[in-house]
Amino acid sequence: MATLIPAFGAGRAAPPAEASSSSHGFDYDLVVVGGGSGGLAASKEAASLGAKTAVLDFVQPSPQGTTWGLGGTCVNVGCIPKKLMHQAAIIGHTIEDATSFGWDLQRPEKPNWSTLVEGVQNHIRSLNWGYRVALRDKNVTYLNAYGSLLDAHTINTVNKRGKEQVITADKIILCPGGRPRYPDIPGAKEFGITSDDIFSLDREPGKTLVIGASYVALECAGFLAAFGYDTTVMVRSILLRGFDSEIAQKIGDHMERHAHVKFVRQATPDRIEKREDGRLVVHYTQNGEAVSDEFDTVLFAIGRDACTSTMGLDKAGVQLNERNGKVVANEADQTNVPNIYAIGDVLEGKPELTPVAIQAGKLLARRLYGQSAALMDYQNVCTTVFTPLEYGCCGFSEDDALDQFGEDIEVFHQSFTPLEWTVPHRPENVCFCKLVVQKSTDRVLGLHFLGPNAGEVTQGFGMALKLKATKAQFDDLVGIHPTVAETLTTMDITKASGESADAAGC
Ligand SMILES: Cc1cc2nc3c(=O)[nH]c(=O)nc-3n(C[C@H](O)[C@H](O)[C@H](O)COP(=O)(O)OP(=O)(O)OC[C@H]3O[C@@H](n4cnc5c(N)ncnc54)[C@H](O)[C@@H]3O)c2cc1C
Repeated sequence: MATLIPAFGAGRAAPPAEASSSSHGFDYDLVVVGGGSGGLAASKEAASLGAKTAVLDFVQPSPQGTTWGLGGTCVNVGCIPKKLMHQAAIIGHTIEDATSFGWDLQRPEKPNWSTLVEGVQNHIRSLNWGYRVALRDKNVTYLNAYGSLLDAHTINTVNKRGKEQVITADKIILCPGGRPRYPDIPGAKEFGITSDDIFSLDREPGKTLVIGASYVALECAGFLAAFGYDTTVMVRSILLRGFDSEIAQKIGDHMERHAHVKFVRQATPDRIEKREDGRLVVHYTQNGEAVSDEFDTVLFAIGRDACTSTMGLDKAGVQLNERNGKVVANEADQTNVPNIYAIGDVLEGKPELTPVAIQAGKLLARRLYGQSAALMDYQNVCTTVFTPLEYGCCGFSEDDALDQFGEDIEVFHQSFTPLEWTVPHRPENVCFCKLVVQKSTDRVLGLHFLGPNAGEVTQGFGMALKLKATKAQFDDLVGIHPTVAETLTTMDITKASGESADAAGC
C-alpha cells in the first residue's frame, strides 16, 4: 500500500508530478527498458495516463541457449513455472496421503517430466501472448530489442537480427532485472544449468546437485526430490541468508529428514567435468578436503546479478552500487540523473519480488503522468518461500528485531500439526509459527509461518502488520477452526519462558 505524502523528502531530488507533453521534442514521453514485472506495469500505466510510451524487452540466451518470450523472469523462469512445479510436488504428496483417506491410488515413481514441462511451458506461452495483446491494447509500443543508453535521453536498440535503431525519450525507466550468477570455476557455464533452464529442460534432470543456499536453490531441490530424483544441495555456510535463521534451520531439517533432500555442507565446488557417457563429475572442497561425486545435472542457484553492465548506464552518468552493480535511487525511485528512474530487481536495497516491481512501476507511472505523489512503501512486504514445507513471512526476522530493539523484543512461538496430516501420519510438530513483538508498544513486528498454504496465510495477516496490529489484537481475533492459520490467533508461549513450543494435541 502506498503512502500519500504532501511533498517529497527534503534534500533528495524528487520528480514533480507533471502531465505528459509532446513539446519536449523526443520520440517518446517514456521509454521503459525491460519488459518484466516492473516494466510491463509501468509502461501500461503510463500509456493509460496518456504518455507516449515504448517498452524494450530482449532476452539474452542463457549459456545453455535457453531463451523465452515477453514478461521477464517471473512469468518465464521464476515464480510461475516454479509454483507450478511446486504444485506438481504437492500432488505427489497428496497421492501418497490418498491411500490413508481410503482412495485406492498407486503413486507412480515419478511424474512424466516431458508432460510436466509441456504443460508449464504452454501456460507460459499463453501468458507471453497475453502480455503482447495487453501492450497493444494500451497503446504501448513494444520493441523486442536490447536497449543501451547513449546519453540521458538517447537509447540505442538492437533487435535479434542485429538491426539498430536509435530512439529518444523525455524520461526513462530502467527495469532490466537480474540473471543467475555462475561461480568462476572450470565447467560451470559449459555444463551447469540455472533456474533459467530447469523449467524447460528437454530431458529428465536425473541425479541432481543444486549448488547454493538461496530460496531458489531450496525450492528447486524441493520439487526435484519430490519428483523422485536423487537430489543434493551443496551449501557453503547458512541456508536462506536474510530470512529468520531459526526458521531457515527448520526448513533445512525438514528437507533432510522428511523430503529426501541430501545436504553437503561447508562445501564449495572447484570444477565440473563431463564424462563420455554424459555424466558430470563435480570436484569440490568440503572442510578443506578434496571430494568428487557424479551427477546428471548441476544446477547453480548462488544468487543473481543485476543486468546493468552492458546497458550504457555510464554514458548517461547513472550511479550504481559498485559492489553489486545495482542502481541507486531515492525514495521516489529516481536515480541521480533526474529523468532516469529504476524499479524492480535492479534497484539497490529493495525486495526482489514481482508484486514489489509491479506496485513500484504503477506508482511511479502515476507520479510521472497522473498527478499523484504516492510513494512505494517497501516496508512490511510479505513473501513466501515454496520449499516442501512452505515458509511465509512479513516484517522483522527475530534476528533483525533483536539487533535493532534488543530486550524490548518478546518472541511467541508454537509448533503444530495440521489436522490434514494426522490421518496419513505425516510428521508431528514440524509446522511452526512465530510472532516477534515489541514489548513497549505490543506491536507485532514480525510474523513467520512454516506450514501448508503459507503464502495464503501470510498474505492475509500481512494486512494486520501494515495496520500496525498489536499482539493483543491478534489474541482478540477469533480463529477459523480447523485451519492452520488459526494457530496465529492463539500464540501464548513465549520463547523467554523456556516452555516447549510443541503442541500437546490437535
Ligand atoms: C526461480 C525464481 C523464482 C522466483 N519466485 C518468485 C516468487 O515466488 N514470488 C515473487 O514475488 N518473486 C519471485 N521471483 C523474483 C521475480 O521473478 C522478480 O522479482 C521479478 O521478475 C522482477 O521483475 P523486474 O521487472 O525487476 O525484472 P524481470 O522480470 O527480470 O524483467 C526484466 C526484463 O528486462 C529484459 N532486459 C534486461 N536488460 C535489457 C535491456 N538492456 N534491453 C531490453 N530488455 C532488457 C530481461 O530480459 C527481462 O525480460 C523469482 C525469481 C526466480 C529467479
